[in-house]
Amino acid sequence: MDKCSLCGRKESEVNMLFTGVDGHICDECIERGHEILMEDRASSGTFSIGDIKLLKPKQIKEFIDQYVIGQEHAKKVLSVAVYNHYKRLSQPTTKDDVEIEKSNIIMVGETGTGKTLLARTIAKMLHVPFTIVDATVLTEAGYVGEDIESLLTRLLQAADYDVKAAERGIVFIDEIDKIARKGDNPSITRDVSGEGVQQGLLKLLEGSIVNVPPQGGRKHPEQKMIPVNTKDILFICGGAFEGIDRVIAKRMNTQVVGYGSHKIHEQVDKENLLKYIIPDDIRKFGLIPEIVGRLPVLTHLEPLDREALKRILTEPKNSIVKQYIKLFQMDKIKLEFSDDAIEYIVDQAISFKLGARGLRSICESIMLEAMFDMPSEKTKEFKVSRDYAETKLDKNAAAKFKNVG
Ligand code: ADP
Repeated sequence: MDKCSLCGRKESEVNMLFTGVDGHICDECIERGHEILMEDRASSGTFSIGDIKLLKPKQIKEFIDQYVIGQEHAKKVLSVAVYNHYKRLSQPTTKDDVEIEKSNIIMVGETGTGKTLLARTIAKMLHVPFTIVDATVLTEAGYVGEDIESLLTRLLQAADYDVKAAERGIVFIDEIDKIARKGDNPSITRDVSGEGVQQGLLKLLEGSIVNVPPQGGRKHPEQKMIPVNTKDILFICGGAFEGIDRVIAKRMNTQVVGYGSHKIHEQVDKENLLKYIIPDDIRKFGLIPEIVGRLPVLTHLEPLDREALKRILTEPKNSIVKQYIKLFQMDKIKLEFSDDAIEYIVDQAISFKLGARGLRSICESIMLEAMFDMPSEKTKEFKVSRDYAETKLDKNAAAKFKNVG
């Protein structure tokens, strides 16, 4: 009779016995193990700085490479910024020390090019509390005072209310461009709510002690505020900044008129002006200069081409294709995608103008029926061909996707 390889009790003596490759484990041993792990984590503090294994920038990039395709420049910039940020944290503060300033980051690039993924991957690597907040929510609320602070509520929650841990966490602020002031001239086209949000945000970026409502929002007026110091929180902002290419073009044209014009002209890649972005372009787009100043690390993301989409589908450590293979493996089915099926999926993502975001939903509709039927069939192997992909997508989703973008 089978017995637990850890405590030795027989199957009949326990509630449940799980079978592994070379042995078994009972439910009670699992529970006990879980308790020990939790106690250990609680006593060591999961997120303490001691836990942050500070990799060198090259190693940081290698880690990110496992998850994010392309975006070489952004990866390098982020690796250095993160390295410096955590070096700054580990620096002892004596009087005559050179004080290293915080290097909050701003990433500019079309949606679906990997901005969130980059921020998320960095947080995964560092094992620090991480949260994503959408700047558009801040605008919609109108009266900003409280809402800006509740942005840190999410971080506190991600840190299980461990304030010390939250104070070393990462906040990703998405769609930062949506709180931009409309137009370059503040006296004519002042967008008060946008600017109000920016002023509030500035306080967080600068580093100050903020009273955070632990439950968030205004629904619980009786809640006791938790003071959080934002000095060591790394803020990573992202935005598409639609139309900023015109700002860049304008600046570059003006420059071109000056001396050395032919030289600059020759090198300009008009298809991808984003690569020439400088902080002043962000200011012209409508972020107040103080905010721009508090986001000293600026980088851009490249648009994803066909080849990149193909690699995204198959290469990353947890790529969509690898995820399906694993799901099927759990039903003991060997799943494969033919090359032309992959090409087809990429083509569809491009034609529906969905970019990388579309890959997942296209795959879902192709795979739905197989995922529904096969677990109760005796199938051992399944290869997704182009024909199969085409019929399934046609039947399920083509119409749905056609109007997107
Ligand atoms: P953004 O924040 O720029 O709008 P996301 O990071 O949310 O874009 O990307 C959406 C999804 O597309 C990601 O979850 C990921 O699956 C995929 N993706 C986008 N860009 C990349 C990339 N460069 N490498 C790997 N996957 C990517």
